[in-house]
Amino acid sequence: MIIQSVSELIGQTPLMQINGYDVPKGTRILAKLEQFNPGGSIKDRLGVKLLKTAFEEGRINTDSTIIEPTAGNTGIGIGLAALEYGMRMIFVVPEKFSEEKQVLMRVLGATIVNTPTEEGIKGAVEKAKALGRETDNCYLPLQFENPVNPLTYYETLAPEIISDLDGLVPDSFVAGAGSGGTFSGVAQYLKEHSEAVRTVVVEPEGSILGGGEPGPHETEGIGVESIPPFMKEEWIDQVYTISDKEAFYYTKALARKNGLFVGSSSGAAFAAALQEAQSLPEGSTIVTVFPDGSERYLSKNIYKEN
Ligand code: PMP
Repeated sequence: MIIQSVSELIGQTPLMQINGYDVPKGTRILAKLEQFNPGGSIKDRLGVKLLKTAFEEGRINTDSTIIEPTAGNTGIGIGLAALEYGMRMIFVVPEKFSEEKQVLMRVLGATIVNTPTEEGIKGAVEKAKALGRETDNCYLPLQFENPVNPLTYYETLAPEIISDLDGLVPDSFVAGAGSGGTFSGVAQYLKEHSEAVRTVVVEPEGSILGGGEPGPHETEGIGVESIPPFMKEEWIDQVYTISDKEAFYYTKALARKNGLFVGSSSGAAFAAALQEAQSLPEGSTIVTVFPDGSERYLSKNIYKEN
């Protein structure tokens, strides 16, 4: 098969059973490997959908400037999608996020504006909105509030999971929340297909879903400062709050034992999936998501001893 554009490589990622860990008899933990998208993360799915929708709704044209606050992966996803249209891009990225992701956004032609780490994603959102007020013909997708974000995962990732399982709805779905788009879209879809499915969310310490105070964390890509507007409480059957130490421990284990070079949000998701496995009956099927790869975090010493 010959493909004509990287956009054809988005989605249909592998679902891999993660073997070699202590789980009840017959229980399976299965992970969607989103690093196999061409931009290296789950957010390629979103980039395409955001621009396509904006075009269809007449919000943008090829002369537009896209301005978006991002931890990096969404910027890369939008950057890939924008190749088709050739528009300008400005991404607002809090300083703490990995340099590799910023390099990849730049090579796709984006301008990066950094905001102070202490101001969090909120600071990046405010800065993006301020830039939007002073830029002609611009469009801000605003993934943190745009319903196209969960819709993307409702339309792509969720049906893929059921199709990968030959029509079976898993007993439990475990996913990290940054914008909350992945979790919300898949949780809604699975709950529509099964009343029994548990949908559980993963966050680092320093995120507020489990009732904790906002604070700093090193696990990159997940953690929320406020409840995402599209995340309905009825979808959250449980919150697992995973420490950086545990997230990084499993990130390394997944490389050493399973040959998976995944980012720390994948390590956190796997730590939560292991806890979920212990709380469910033997023979359960748990699906989780590994959002990106580790190579974009090597400068941040992702495999450090802890
Ligand atoms: N992990 C990584 C590495 C990410 O970049 C993101 C997106 N910020 C997530 C997890 C969380 O995805 P979502 O925004 O859909 O909650």
